[in-house]
Amino acid sequence: RKSPNDLNAFWMPFTANRQFKKNPRMFVGAKDMHYTTSDGRQVLDGTAGLWCCNAGHCRPKITEAIQKQAAELDYAPAFQMGHPIAFELANRILDIAPDEMAHVFYTNSGSESVETALKLAIGYHRARGDGARTRLIGRERGYHGVNFGGISVGGIVTNRKTFGPLVPGVDHLPHTHLPEENRWSKGCPEHGAHLADDLERIIALHGAETIAAVIVEPVAGSTGVLLPPKGYLQKLRDITKKHGILLIFDEVITGFGRTGAAFAAEKYGVVPDMITTAKGLTNGVIPMGAVLTTAEVHDAFMNGPEHMIELFHGYTYSGNPIAAAAGIATIETYREEGLFERAAELAPYWEDALHSLKGVRNVIDIRNEGLIGAVELEPIAGEPTKRAFSAFLKAYEKGILIRTTGDIIAMSPPLIISKEQIDQLLGTLKEVLEEVE
Ligand code: PMP
Repeated sequence: RKSPNDLNAFWMPFTANRQFKKNPRMFVGAKDMHYTTSDGRQVLDGTAGLWCCNAGHCRPKITEAIQKQAAELDYAPAFQMGHPIAFELANRILDIAPDEMAHVFYTNSGSESVETALKLAIGYHRARGDGARTRLIGRERGYHGVNFGGISVGGIVTNRKTFGPLVPGVDHLPHTHLPEENRWSKGCPEHGAHLADDLERIIALHGAETIAAVIVEPVAGSTGVLLPPKGYLQKLRDITKKHGILLIFDEVITGFGRTGAAFAAEKYGVVPDMITTAKGLTNGVIPMGAVLTTAEVHDAFMNGPEHMIELFHGYTYSGNPIAAAAGIATIETYREEGLFERAAELAPYWEDALHSLKGVRNVIDIRNEGLIGAVELEPIAGEPTKRAFSAFLKAYEKGILIRTTGDIIAMSPPLIISKEQIDQLLGTLKEVLEEVE
């Protein structure tokens, strides 16, 4: 048996694993806005873990709900049997979702929510006798998790190359980031709504009668906080509706208050047919995801041919009682503390603090919405990602946790962050950037 210090665990993305093993960084505790490191330091969480701990860490209400549920009903089969907690959570989610969302399909992660939504889209058309509609459309630089459907519709080209062949019949819209025109725009950029018109081109190429769904993140998070140009999402909605194609918003990051509204669908006033969620649903504490659907999508299955129900899919842990209890306590925490409203109120302060980094060396763009933000750095020629990664390491030494993707620094603090902590986060980042080569 090897000692734990041999670091033989292999759960991280491969590249992250390589970097980590050279320079391991361990968290051993967390409370509210801070992590405690294995060497006893406090680190301000500028990323809500991985965009998930929206109410901060180790919140007693959530911890207690988990403990209580684990002692009362630890598990109930997800098929044929039910338990009231899963239904209660579904109602709590729908209470804060756009009115058109009428049903909840449980999963255990963002990736599973994406697979589920893609399958629901294809099944929806088939249940209505429209079985030729199987094509899927994603977007370049979209991120939809790590499973085959998600990487197929996803816009990370290296993933598509490394793990192909993938799900057939997929096209990608162009990404919405127009660096030159849109740099420094506060909130959503004015330019780029025309990029949605590419959807008409793809539809014309294959015929609408072959296309099941379009999936996009309202704000692409993991690939660098790319905001939707004004009018872009509405255009996608108009075009999909016109052609009978379902629109899926992947709100795994944007859901549960990140943009200053419960869901980005509400923030941008555009209602999709399905919303995929995870992360903030249980405050990142227990793996759980959910796909929200309209009554129309749900009813196609429930009222469709019998065999559709037989073919249906679900997970052993779907809606499991402990995760559901955590979800209820999380949504209650968001409500009781008014955290979505708080995110909206803090957004202008956050925007000013972020944009105070304009002019700092190597900073070439800043983007923000709600309590999400990105600072893009000029890459070092021939060494992409190096500059941002050095900033990440230095920031960690100085007591703040940021996230990097390429040469973009992304931040999405817990919604409980104070103005002083915003100052600390961005002030420290400024210091770091002034020091990084
Ligand atoms: N979709 C989006 C938009 C995401 O940001 C993520 C995770 N960053 C996923 C899906 C995948 O979620 P998970 O890691 O929980 O599988």
